[in-house]
Amino acid sequence: MTAGTLNDMAGKNALVTGASRGIGRAIAEGLAARGAAVAVNYVSNKDAADSVVAAITAAGGRAVAIGGDVSSEEHVAAMFQQAETELGQLDIVVANAGIVINKPFAEHTVEDFDKTFETNARGAFLVLHQAAARIRDNGRIIAISSGGTRMLLPGTTLYLASKGALEQIVRGAAMEVGHRGVTVNTVSPGFTDTDLLTDDFRATAADMSPLGRVGTPEEVAAVVTFVASPAASWVTAQNIGAGGGVF
Ligand code: NAP
Repeated sequence: MTAGTLNDMAGKNALVTGASRGIGRAIAEGLAARGAAVAVNYVSNKDAADSVVAAITAAGGRAVAIGGDVSSEEHVAAMFQQAETELGQLDIVVANAGIVINKPFAEHTVEDFDKTFETNARGAFLVLHQAAARIRDNGRIIAISSGGTRMLLPGTTLYLASKGALEQIVRGAAMEVGHRGVTVNTVSPGFTDTDLLTDDFRATAADMSPLGRVGTPEEVAAVVTFVASPAASWVTAQNIGAGGGVF
């Protein structure tokens, strides 16, 4: 591999769930900057997804916006079908879409449990399930967890429980697709400057990092794009932190 090339994903096709905003947007833009054609998934924010596609296109890349709820089996199957029809067989799939319901454990409801697990755990299962069956040989499957699964963080019990399920799905999937050269990994961000991070927690989050700040979506995307790159062919079944030292 030639050092310094940033076109190592030319000819590759990628799907990033939850790519209309935040970390997913930065991942989609990072993959496109390295030459991949990218399917930009969103659930409700079509305008935001269209603006990601416009930004990628303006920078000389190729992208399409695809709506769909990752918790729906039908939507996820249709999302993969549309991505394959518009871009071709996928080489890179990033299960990034996620939600958090911040509450003390005692106040959580069964509805909170269902909503959290439907998006974060069932969604990761459905996306990885499709990816394992459809991705091209030597492909890259990445799921986005949270470094919080390695911390003691109040107010995030259901969120981190659902991410714990996602991390185990990654390990199981990795064992079964490795014979095709496909890698499956988790990337775990720390506190990152997106809509998901509540304003009242930002200062505390910054203090928890040795670097004294929260991360940018681009800093997380840099790790994801490496794991998605040809250079990461010997990295599989891992949980790689991108958290500025908070865990
Ligand atoms: P964000 O800014 O809130 O963006 C969430 C994205 O997910 C949006 O694109 C949203 O689409 C999409 N989405 C939500 N529910 C969906 C569903 N059911 N189906 C499809 N797409 C859905 O979040 P973020 O901070 O970038 O988080 C991205 C990932 O990083 C998540 O898995 C999160 O748990 C993880 N993470 C974040 C942090 C952090 O500090 N920010 C830390 C650790 C881990 P719409 O725009 O259409 O709503």
